[in-house]
Amino acid sequence: MMNILNRIAIAGVIALVATASTAAGQLRVVATTPDLAALAREIGGSAVTVAALAKPTEDPHFVDAKPSHIVTLNRADVLIEGGAELELGWLPPLLESARNAKIGAGARGRVVATDGIRMIEDPSSFDRSKGDVHSRGNPHFLVDPVNAKIVAANIANHFAQADPKSAAAYRAGLARFNAKVDTKLVEWQRQLAPYRGAKLVAYHKDFGYLAGRFGLQIVETLEPKPGIAPSPAHLARVIRTMKSQNARVILLQPYQNRRTAQTVARQAGAVVLDVPQQPGAKPNTGTYFDVMDNIVRSLVAGLGAQR
Ligand SMILES: [Zn+2]
Repeated sequence: MMNILNRIAIAGVIALVATASTAAGQLRVVATTPDLAALAREIGGSAVTVAALAKPTEDPHFVDAKPSHIVTLNRADVLIEGGAELELGWLPPLLESARNAKIGAGARGRVVATDGIRMIEDPSSFDRSKGDVHSRGNPHFLVDPVNAKIVAANIANHFAQADPKSAAAYRAGLARFNAKVDTKLVEWQRQLAPYRGAKLVAYHKDFGYLAGRFGLQIVETLEPKPGIAPSPAHLARVIRTMKSQNARVILLQPYQNRRTAQTVARQAGAVVLDVPQQPGAKPNTGTYFDVMDNIVRSLVAGLGAQR
């Protein structure tokens, strides 16, 4: 996190760049995470420039805040955030330093992706004092393609309000995206149909929406609570559950502890599947569709090999 001296230096940088604008009058969009940035590119096309604050290999709950993020936020016309306190640990101080009313809470340039999403996991049972980072329900909803359509509509709506001259282009971008999701969803459902009811383990509670959409079951997570590191006692329980329920696959993202996942997999007779949710975390996964293709392909390979 930045100290005061950094903030003063940044104020100078902002003064230099604040009047700059994009050559073609494009809408300047910043998304907190690469998956939201990918949706913004699908909707906005050439009418927008899009930057993501988090790297594809960074945990969206714990992003390393940098001075350059403040400059990016200061210049933005639109900010897309996940919401549900996904970015609670790092975004608020950046926004405070960026001083940009266009992307303030409630502004037309502020998109909260959770708006309209039916959240899973009851937030009334959470206890932040114990470190649970899913304080407002589960914020990893984009791995359900139906949710991606809801977020895309929300983005298109805000783009049109912030940039009325390109409203028709945003509507067209949304229609194209929705049509492609509808086509691909049928394909993904067909590929995963043979594995309906399959039992999986995830490192973090980040695949619940995918499981719900495709009829899979997440029977355990290596973290005892979202954001809490696994303890030996908890992992021993997880291994027992995996053996008794015949769960032979552990889902892992790049920023999670691979060594822990591999140790559990070895003891439970399971395999670890690399299934990053962020575009760009793996080669050839630049778009939302690439990411979902990769997840479905990995699941089919991993679950197929267990038969
Ligand atoms: Zn989470």
